[in-house]
Amino acid sequence: MAAAADLELALDARAALGEGAIWNESLQRLHWVDIAGHRVFTFDPATGENHAADVGAMVGTVVPRARGGLMLALHQGFAALDPATGRVRPLPPPPEHDPAKARFNDGKCDPAGRFWAGTMSFVKGQALGALYRLDPDGAQRVMLRDVRTSNGIVWSLDRRTMYYIDTPLMRVDAFDYDEATGAIAARRPALAIPPGIGRPDGSTLDAEGMLWIAMWAGGRVTRWNPRTGELLRTIRVPAGNVTSCAFGGPRLDTLFITTARDGLTEAQLAAQPLAGGLFRIRPGVPGLPAPAYAG
Ligand code: CA
Repeated sequence: MAAAADLELALDARAALGEGAIWNESLQRLHWVDIAGHRVFTFDPATGENHAADVGAMVGTVVPRARGGLMLALHQGFAALDPATGRVRPLPPPPEHDPAKARFNDGKCDPAGRFWAGTMSFVKGQALGALYRLDPDGAQRVMLRDVRTSNGIVWSLDRRTMYYIDTPLMRVDAFDYDEATGAIAARRPALAIPPGIGRPDGSTLDAEGMLWIAMWAGGRVTRWNPRTGELLRTIRVPAGNVTSCAFGGPRLDTLFITTARDGLTEAQLAAQPLAGGLFRIRPGVPGLPAPAYAG
């Protein structure tokens, strides 16, 4: 059991739409994004320094690259970012992606270093999004169609199951996952989100194989057993729109949590002065290293 500590504000960032938290093992820094602010951040928990790179477009998520640098999912598609120069190099447009109808949102790398990221439909109630896979050789594939708001994506400890959130469905789905080929199959619901605790957004896995889910409009992060569907734990966050979470720190025992100011009324913003902040807690269980993009 890792040592526990209460929730605290790590950075009063006032992000419009903080998202995409991921720990960079080699740098010992936390990357995260402000989607609406077009910014990719690199946060050093040791000093509190938060370096910002303006990438000139909505940025749904960020992942480290094994060879160094970062990979992004921008509004229009995948891109590489050199944090030293701030230079953004877009990859070819993803198949079937119409930036007028959807933008890229959350994504992470699978255990084999493939970068998965999905899009969210601009038209409420219409599933105009998709889930994409960017392979280390640069090939891009549509892995799922008819997606509404593509969000949290994680792989199980035994690397045989992928857990995926399409937010408006109010559940987490499981797929059989083949690490060798990257194929997914046999979609089925893994857990259902009950009413009253918000909508499922970003997610991460801990070292016990349990799923942590940030709850948009729920003011909390939740921990679940994805095999039984049981809600194990709730951590309240003093911001209603909780968007993503990721384990970091030298022992991977700190859960970093991003939040948003977007979607709040003036009255809600007044009542939630820390909305858009980056929070942290040591929940007593560590996480796992996040795979980097292998291409
Ligand atoms: Ca999200």
